[in-house]
Amino acid sequence: MRTIKGIPVSSGVVIGVAFVLDDDFRHVPRRAIARGAVDAELARFETARQAAIEELAQLHALAEKEMGPESAKVFLFHVGALNDKKLLAGIHKSIADDHAGAEWAVSEALQTWIDLFRSKDDPTFSTKVNDIEDIRRRLLSQLMGERFDVLRETADNAVVIARDLTPTQTATFDRSKILAFVTELGGKTSHTAIFARALALPAIVGARGVTDAVRDGQKVIVDADRGSLILDPDEETVERYTHERERVEAYRLSLAELADQPAITTDGVEIEIVGNIEFPAEVDTVLEYGGAGIGLYRTEFLFLTSRDIPSEKTHFEAYAKCIEKLAGKTLTIRTVDLGADKYTQERAQIPERNPFLGLRSIRYCLQNLDMFKTQLRAILRASALGPVKIMFPLITSIAEYRQARMVVRDAMEDLDEQGVAYDKDIPIGMMVEVPSAAIQAAMFAREVDFFSIGTNDLVQYTLAVDRTNERVASLYNPAHPAVTKLIRDVARAAKRSDIPVSCCGEAAGEPEFAALLLGLGLRTLSVTASDIPPIKRLVRSLSIPQCERIAKKAISLDSESEASAFLRDRINRLVPEAFDGRTAEPRG
Ligand code: PEP
Ligand code: MG
Repeated sequence: MRTIKGIPVSSGVVIGVAFVLDDDFRHVPRRAIARGAVDAELARFETARQAAIEELAQLHALAEKEMGPESAKVFLFHVGALNDKKLLAGIHKSIADDHAGAEWAVSEALQTWIDLFRSKDDPTFSTKVNDIEDIRRRLLSQLMGERFDVLRETADNAVVIARDLTPTQTATFDRSKILAFVTELGGKTSHTAIFARALALPAIVGARGVTDAVRDGQKVIVDADRGSLILDPDEETVERYTHERERVEAYRLSLAELADQPAITTDGVEIEIVGNIEFPAEVDTVLEYGGAGIGLYRTEFLFLTSRDIPSEKTHFEAYAKCIEKLAGKTLTIRTVDLGADKYTQERAQIPERNPFLGLRSIRYCLQNLDMFKTQLRAILRASALGPVKIMFPLITSIAEYRQARMVVRDAMEDLDEQGVAYDKDIPIGMMVEVPSAAIQAAMFAREVDFFSIGTNDLVQYTLAVDRTNERVASLYNPAHPAVTKLIRDVARAAKRSDIPVSCCGEAAGEPEFAALLLGLGLRTLSVTASDIPPIKRLVRSLSIPQCERIAKKAISLDSESEASAFLRDRINRLVPEAFDGRTAEPRG
């Protein structure tokens, strides 16, 4: 029995079987082959190549049917590469003359291509790098008998162990088979972590060395409340965790009765608790848990789960579905927030040196106006069906906000000309998630209809701590007084201009931080669906003056560690059950 520690990002305890994913094929061994084995090795390579071509032919046929000939063309390029005479000659030479194993020969030959393509300034070449990596992986997966595109083919009760997972990979998990995941990389507010919470999948990130330490098929316990992965647990440990899991399950069920109760503080102040979603289907869960609407719809997931840029119809249908489910409750649609750790295939091929400071979010939209306008038209059309708000991400300057708003006006004019209905008074607001926006909040408040504070990014940009980097995770703390001061000022600016302000960062779903936000003047919290009941219970157990005292003290402390400790201690004392949903370390 051995325990590996990581960062807990999506709570829960599961007992399952490890499924180790090495889809990067980072460790390709250089295996020497005997002189007499050359022909057999060449034949082995040829079998793998033919199998890969066969796989690609099937993919091409499927893609052509589902996405059209243009999108499917990429697979023809892959087949072409696998038939390239120069490439094949290089691989054959490596095997026949240098007596290298086929895996190494393939890996080296394609790596040479990758390096060559990467070094070209011409985007025709550089955008092909991912394709070549794909070809390399496909051939290696044939040769090494490992997995490619197999996240949907795990055995039952699988705990996926990986170096990293993209939001797209997480999105394609088969929920009926995958119980949890543990990765080496990532931070608490990385989008893969956010996704895990949306899917209610227990998850641990930043578990260093986990892919080397865990064997495929090994029995494991994931304690994602404490960030522990237990390998080969003994019977007694399994039994203890089974009991603990039952207790937590019973606790969560006991919260279900809160769904119909109002979120009112003990002194009678009504708090609006709304949900964050990535997919229309999550609206059901938000409503089931008693959410009052959707405070953040991360629409970039429409891009991340498809190879194509979504059409206006795709956007519209997704929004219409949400609006129908919400039956009169408000849907806050955030315009596409691509970039940084959320990118599409196309964008991943143009790596940026500092993606979080790069062409992400509203910047990307303003440089891709057709795409932006397509989305805005769809949002506006959907606003004729029910209450909708438009929210822009990552606004850093007033010029940017005005420009984005102008594109909305443009889209409105187009619709007017075509006689298409939409809500002419649709509220247009912005995320406050970079320090420049928070510092200039009073000025922004005079022009925008609402604010939503995005602590996930606000913390990383204020503290200069990458939200996805496990190595600096201990420095990432929303209780840092520099952050809370910014939030206080944004709340004050909103109040003065009489506009609503909410928080939709992950911190709003943490009991101690939610209390702090109420104390700083916020009256709307937008959280992951499963956090709605515990946050509602917290709200119903505290008064606003209590929260204000907590906030005043926390903000006056010198450091984030003092502030965190103070907040935790105070909430523990005032609302001890606030942390009941987390599993306690089972005592041995
Ligand atoms: C945030 O930054 O707090 C936020 C809610 O947006 P995202 O996590 O999608 O960047
Ligand atoms: Mg953000």
